[in-house]
Order: sequence, then structure tokens, then C-alpha cells
Amino acid sequence: MTIIALAGNPNAGKTTLFNELTGAHQHVGNYPGVTVEKKMGHYRMDNTIVDIVDLPGTYSLTAYSMEELVARNFLVNEKPAVVVDIVDAANLERNLYLAIQFMEMGVPVVIALNMMDVAHKRGIQIDTHKLETLLGVHVEPIVARRGHGVPELMATVSQVMEQKSDPVNLQISYGEDMDRAISDMTAEIEAAGFLADRYRPKWIALKYLEGDPEILDLGQKHNPTVAQKLAAKAERLGRHIQKTTGAEPEAIVADQRYGFIKSILNQGVSTTQYDHHRLYMSDKIDLVLTNRLVGPLLMVAVIYGLYYFTFTYSKIPIGWLEGVFGVLGGLVDTHLPDGLLKSMIIAGVIDGVGGVLGFVPLIMFMFFGIAMLEDSGYLARVAYMLDRVFKLFGLHGSSVMPFIVSGGIAGGCAVPGIMATRTLKSPKERLATLLTAPFMNCGAKLPIFALLVAAFFADREAEVMFLLTAVSWVGALLVAKFLRMTAVKGESTPFVMELPPYRLPTLKGILIHTWERTWQYIKKAGTVILGISILLWAMMTFPHMPVERAAAYEKERQAVFAAAPQAAVQEMGSVDGDVQLFEAANTVQDTLNTISGREAEANLRYSIAGRIGTALESVSRFAGFDWRTNIALVGGFAAKEVVVSTLGTAYSLGDVDPEQSGSLADKLAAAPGWRPLTALALIIFTIFYAPCFVAVICIGKEAGSWKWGVFSMVFNTLLAFGLAVLVFQVGSLMGF
Ligand code: GDP
Ligand code: MG
Repeated sequence: MTIIALAGNPNAGKTTLFNELTGAHQHVGNYPGVTVEKKMGHYRMDNTIVDIVDLPGTYSLTAYSMEELVARNFLVNEKPAVVVDIVDAANLERNLYLAIQFMEMGVPVVIALNMMDVAHKRGIQIDTHKLETLLGVHVEPIVARRGHGVPELMATVSQVMEQKSDPVNLQISYGEDMDRAISDMTAEIEAAGFLADRYRPKWIALKYLEGDPEILDLGQKHNPTVAQKLAAKAERLGRHIQKTTGAEPEAIVADQRYGFIKSILNQGVSTTQYDHHRLYMSDKIDLVLTNRLVGPLLMVAVIYGLYYFTFTYSKIPIGWLEGVFGVLGGLVDTHLPDGLLKSMIIAGVIDGVGGVLGFVPLIMFMFFGIAMLEDSGYLARVAYMLDRVFKLFGLHGSSVMPFIVSGGIAGGCAVPGIMATRTLKSPKERLATLLTAPFMNCGAKLPIFALLVAAFFADREAEVMFLLTAVSWVGALLVAKFLRMTAVKGESTPFVMELPPYRLPTLKGILIHTWERTWQYIKKAGTVILGISILLWAMMTFPHMPVERAAAYEKERQAVFAAAPQAAVQEMGSVDGDVQLFEAANTVQDTLNTISGREAEANLRYSIAGRIGTALESVSRFAGFDWRTNIALVGGFAAKEVVVSTLGTAYSLGDVDPEQSGSLADKLAAAPGWRPLTALALIIFTIFYAPCFVAVICIGKEAGSWKWGVFSMVFNTLLAFGLAVLVFQVGSLMGF
């Protein structure tokens, strides 16, 4: 016999609807084993008779009250064809709390929006159509007491029964920590087929996190091993949540559910004219923070504040770290004999890894700020405000944070940015976001810009830097739109952002979140970069020039020594002495340095990297890049930081310290073949070309297939090259 269940909050009008539907054909009993009244009746639907059951009224589906347990077990055991959830339109927010729990459970739901007359009288307007699309279930407005809308409701129910489509899969985010635990536990539950005949795996995971006594009990009986594993995981997360937020997982779950509902209602589903006295504290704050005029201004101020805080205060520990690596390099330099090992340790290990670890304080400070915004609930509002703009480009409001973390304002890193896309629940928007986030100007691209801008656009630094930020944003949004029309095509998922109530974040919670993310960065970047920078060092060192050629440089140096006045040679290296001699000694030293520089350049050209750079020249010249630039750019694939230091080596300019890039800039400006247009083409290329190695790995991992990692490498590089050629050729034609 087909069963239709009527469910809903107490006093929503279930019994009224039940009587309306069944008329005289009803009987009353008790649910088996308990004293909760069970009302059943018949209803003629199309040509068959179906059973209608009036479930006990509940606000939730926990296992804390008899009514809730009865309702829940009835749904699982009797498997009604459709659950008609009677929702009081005048108390939408509270009533939807139960509705979304039905949907999470995975039962087929039709919402009967009852008491429309009352809602109307109170000035509440409800956009049922919007509610339908956002929730993904049918919504029928009714007035049960007068029978209005009931035939339409039952027609919809019959239609849903015929379609037999799978119930919607409602995705509510419970915050990063919980979401990760849920997907982790869900996988385990699926693999073990744990309670598979009764509940959805994800629902079971959620119940374990909520500590639902009935499910814990059932699970223990069904499969003690798996049950204990799940319980242990849930407990571990519980402690973590307690530590970071000071609340139980259950409370977080409730908060996020209300946040989800609130966001639905805020998106124009429910508007009321005289409802102000009902505003909660959180709503009051939102009146200001998400205000149409003030909101965006405050948002800009907050984001600016975040960057000011990050860049100003991280300078101090970054200085310390640079000091430490400087001392380390000095120690190796003095205590190791000259040779390959020393060169590898300094150029490969210390410079490479040091370059990455040098960013740790910056990343840490930024994550600290972001954790604060996130834990307080403000970040959700930022996404909410930007949603409209981002939708135009096939993205989502939540895409903004990954962009910003990746360097959307200045500095940042695509690796945590790509990981931050996890908060995006709709797969297409998420993929488009993580593929375009690397276009942002991350902290490693900044030294390149700083160098080139100082060399060629010194009189307009601020304007050019601002322009570059704009170029990367416009580029990212346009590419996102392009991808959403081609490779990542598809309707955008109607998707609701949770607007959880504001919470005062705890310092401990923020510190833990900051450290978790920073450590992820250190681990990922540290290990991969170490390998890559050693590899790069080897490619730039081997094979050595033939001995005769190296000897020729040595001979040249000897000749300089021989030609120089003996007194000046003696003066070299000594501290005090005659001013004239000192200058003569300096001249000799400069000549020697120039020779050694030419030797280093010749050596580089002879190496594997040099050969690759030279081979690429035939193509790269269309964008104005010579072999040295090519080496730097290939090296930049390992880590963009490498571009500046490689340019330094390639132009035989000796050690290049980004701090001292002023001098490198001067030399670059004077180098033959370089003009402002070359620099501009190189900058454009740098913004758009392949993400660094670590980011590519991360893209593959987060997108669920290494193919997307390869895609981003190839697609981005082609795009970048096309743009660079365009800039260079058009610029050349115009006479720059
Ligand atoms: P239940 O607890 O869900 O079974 O709710 P009831 O069916 O007992 O209804 C609770 C109260 O709401 C009763 O006084 C009903 O007459 C009233 N009611 C039910 N539906 C409507 C409606 O559409 N409009 C109005 N104004 N009152 C209704
Ligand atoms: Mg009743």
C-alpha cells in the first residue's frame, strides 16, 4: 500500500490538512510500543487509494523525544512514497529547520506552505518559486483550513510519486572542519556498507557527529568495529570543535542549518514590511555590514585592513628568517670547501627552500586574519555581497576568498587559494574558481613586477602596480566566463550560502586554524621546492664548459693581474691605505668581476637549462624573450621566486637579492634588447602562464583528476604566450 506521510512542526496544520484529505475515512491508534497517537486514513488519488498518516508534530529529528523518534523511524521503516511537510508560512525560518532535515535524511519531500492567509495578513510575502529552486523541492502554497490549494498540492504529490526521481541531495556546509570529517566518515561508511539498508551514509556520519544515541546504539549492534572507529573519529572532531569554537558539534550543526535557512530567506524568498521587532542581534549587525551602500565600503576597508596588518607586521619575522638563512649561507660559505657540494647547498638548498620558507610569516599572518574573519562569520557576508557580480562570470560569491588568498589584492599564494575553494559546494563554479585563482598576483610574482617596474616604469610605479592587479582580476573573470562556456560548461547549481549567526572568535581557535593551514603550506611547499630547486641548480650547472674554454677565462684574469700595477694588486683586500691605490684596486676588481660574470653566463648557456632556453628562442622571440629570459621563465615553473634570481645569474649580475633589486633593475634597463615593451610583455606572461609546480599538483588533487593540473599548465601558458605576443607585436607596430 502506498503511504503518504504528513509531517511538520506542532500547530502547523497537519491535522487540519489530514481531515481535509481523508474526510470520514480515518481511524486512530497508537504507534507500536509507544503511546504516541497514530492517525491514519484513506485518500483517493487518481484511481488508487493511498494511506495518509498524520505524523506527530516535531521541530527537529533528533532522538531526544518520543515524537521525534517515532517520526524518524516511521520514515525509515515504512518508507512513505512522499512526505508532505506542512510548513507554517508565518514562521518560515523555524519551520524550514525540520524541512531541511527531511531532505538531509534523503526522503522525498513536498512542502505544503500552509497558513498563507496568516502570512498575508502579517505582511509577509513569500516567493514560493524562488524557495522551490533554492531548496530543490516542490513548494505548494495552501490554506488548509479553507482547503485552498489542496488539489494542486495533491497533484504535485502524485506527480512526484510518478516520477520516482531520487530525492534531492541537500548540501549544507558545516564548516571546514566538520565537512572534512563528514566526507571522511561517509567514505568509511560507504566502504563498509554500514547500516546501508536504512540510512544515507552522509546522514549517519552527521548523526555520529551529533552523538545521536539511537544511531550509535544501532551501529554498535550492526558492526561494532566500524561503529567504534566512527565514534572515535566523531569524538576527536568533537574535541577539536570544542577547542576551536568553544561549542559542541551539535550547536555548530544547528547554527549552520539556521545560517542556511537565513540565507535562503535573505535571497528574496521572504520579505516583510513590519517585522523589525523580531530582528536578532545578528540581523541587526547585518543591517549595517551587508547594507547595500555601507556594506561594500566596509568590506573594502576590512580587506584593506587585512592586507595592511599582514604586510606591515609580517615584515619583522620575515627579516629574522632572512637573517637566519643569511647566517646559514655564510656558515656554509666559510666552512665548506669551494666546489659542487657547496654550490648545491647554497644555490639549491638554502636559496631555494629559504625563498619559500621566507614567505611563511606572511602566509601565517594572512591566515590569522582570514581565520578571524571566517570564525566570526564575516567572510560569509563578503561572499554574500559579491555573489551578484561573480554570478555574471559563471562563478559564485564564495569564489572571492580563494581569489584574495591567491593574491587578489597583492601577495598571497595560489596553493592555499586553491585549497580554499573547498568551501564552494557547487562543482562547476568550484572548478572554474580553482582554475582561475592562479592568475592572481601571488607573493612570488611581486618581486618580478617590482624588478621590472623599477627598471622600466620607475616614474609610474603605483599606477602600473594597480593596473597589474586590475589586469589579473579582469583576466581571471573573463577566463572563468570562457571556461564556463566551454570546458566547464553547465548550468550553475542553485546554491545557498550559509549565513551563520555572528560569533565572537576565540584566540585559541584562530591560532589552531592558522597553524593548521600554515603547516599545510610548509609541508607542501617545503618538500617539493627542495627537490625542484636542487634539480634546477643541476640543470643550470651541468654540463660544465669544456676545460679549454674555462681556462681561457682564467687566462684573461691572469692577464689583468699581470697588467695591473703591483701596488694596486697588493692593496686589494686590505682595509686601510692610500686612497689612490684603493681606487686602482677597485678598478682591477671590477674588471675581474666582469670577466667572471661573462664566464658564468657562458657556463649557463652551455648547461642543459641554457640549451633549453636557446632552443625556445625561436618561438619566444615573438614575445621579445631571449634565451636568458626563457631559462628564468622555465625556472619560474618550479616557483615564481626563481625568475628574479635566475635573471640575475643569466645576466651575469652576480648575487641578486630582491631587496637590492634596484641595482639589478639598473643593469637590466641598460641591457641590450630590453625596452619597456619587453618588460610589459614579460609581466603579462608572468601573470598568466602556468601556475607553479606545487599549485599544479594542488589543482590536480582538488579538481579530482591530474588532467586538470595538466590542463592548467598548457592552457595558461598558451594564453599567456598569446597575450605576450599580442602586447609585444602590437606595441612594436605602434613604435614602442
Ligand atoms: P497540527 O498541530 O499540525 O496538527 O495543527 P492543527 O491542524 O491542529 O492546526 C492548528 C491550528 O491552526 C488550528 O486552530 C487550525 O484551525 C489552524 N489552521 C490550520 N491551517 C490553517 C490555515 O491555513 N489558516 C489559518 N488561519 N489557520 C489554520
Ligand atoms: Mg495535530
